[in-house]
Amino acid sequence: MSTSLCFANSAEPTLYIPLELPGVEIVSVKMAADGYHITVRSVVKHTQCRSCGREITRSHGYGDPSTVQHLPVLGHPTYITFRPKRFLCPHCSTPERKVITTQLLSWQALRSPLTCIYEEHVLLQLVNSTITDVSRKEQLSYDTVLGVLERRINAAVDWEEIQDLEVIGIDEVARRKGHRDFLAIITTHTAAGKTQLLTVLPDRKKATVKAFFDSMPPRLRHTVRTVCTDMWEGYVNAVHESCDPDPECQVAIVIDRFHVAKQYYKAADNLRKQEMKRLKQQLPKAQYQELRGVMWLFRRRKKALAAEEQIRLERFFQYAPRLQLAYQLREQLTQIFDTLLSPAEAASKFETWCQAVRDSGLNCFNRFITTLHNWWNEILNYFRQRHNSGFVEGFNNKVKVLKRRCYGILNVTHLFQRLYLDLEGYRLFA
Ligand SMILES: [Zn+2]
Repeated sequence: MSTSLCFANSAEPTLYIPLELPGVEIVSVKMAADGYHITVRSVVKHTQCRSCGREITRSHGYGDPSTVQHLPVLGHPTYITFRPKRFLCPHCSTPERKVITTQLLSWQALRSPLTCIYEEHVLLQLVNSTITDVSRKEQLSYDTVLGVLERRINAAVDWEEIQDLEVIGIDEVARRKGHRDFLAIITTHTAAGKTQLLTVLPDRKKATVKAFFDSMPPRLRHTVRTVCTDMWEGYVNAVHESCDPDPECQVAIVIDRFHVAKQYYKAADNLRKQEMKRLKQQLPKAQYQELRGVMWLFRRRKKALAAEEQIRLERFFQYAPRLQLAYQLREQLTQIFDTLLSPAEAASKFETWCQAVRDSGLNCFNRFITTLHNWWNEILNYFRQRHNSGFVEGFNNKVKVLKRRCYGILNVTHLFQRLYLDLEGYRLFA
């Protein structure tokens, strides 16, 4: 008896395809309009008693037949029909009560309409993709694909797998576009340079974040040295309240440059909007339209512009000199973050920059300057810890990409599983 499918074109060489179902032999193969239907039976003559765990061999008939979907064979859906063997345990059974165990072979996935190996194939397809897309490609129902995710991917972090935490990132995802309704995503960065997902929280309230930090095993909480976060009191207070009372915790809060940049870019952009409004009123329509085409260059860093683009931007600045000033100040600030400085050196550069803003007479950065002073120490901590900061920027991008694909996933457990799969899927299933 063979556990391979055999294909032959008459007089051509024969192709054997292993069925990848250990412990069975093929009883029959039928090709139907919807694919291959293969009936198999178990050749394994024992199982483990579900009650005492001993190996048992006394046969007790068969369970009900069931059909599961297997990896497609040459693109055709393939179905496996099987009646599981049942065994009676002579040790646990009494005259009144028989203890019966149904055999589960290694390729069977419990409570799944798919075989184990097909489930793993589906999970691999799901990495960086969507449930809808995978269900379409595999011609499986949405619920089948979702079911695989739910069964096979842990719904929460397994602390046992983690040796130390060292650097933690707290980030957020808007649940729906345009809504101020956030989920918090907490990650860690391992010494080996890997980003690992710790949790997805249903909101970014202090109590929620604190509860998560409190739930960490103390042996791991004591290893946290840096928490990278956005400028959000809820996160920072949660970390302080959870870690400060514990003398073994020494945690520095770092505001990542990415979050700072978002604020001062926005400040410069507000002035751009004002200036465009002014120019729209003052310039002839055609000329205004021409300038509008240059606008997107303003949002980019000077060093990212080609020489010709820089000239176009300079020409535009002739109509809006205040905007040129804001652009230069914005670039100077980025330059400070680009330079390897000590916290004290960075502090002095920031003070000089604030003075330059005051001297410029611009007021678009006023709010940013207040923010800068409110978060002074945490922003300067970036310079102390900068060797750690890359991962949060990298993860932000990862989350951004995922966010776009995951719109509508309001279930935090599913979001955790999807993020986890994106981060770990290739390692686990490729
Ligand atoms: Zn037993």
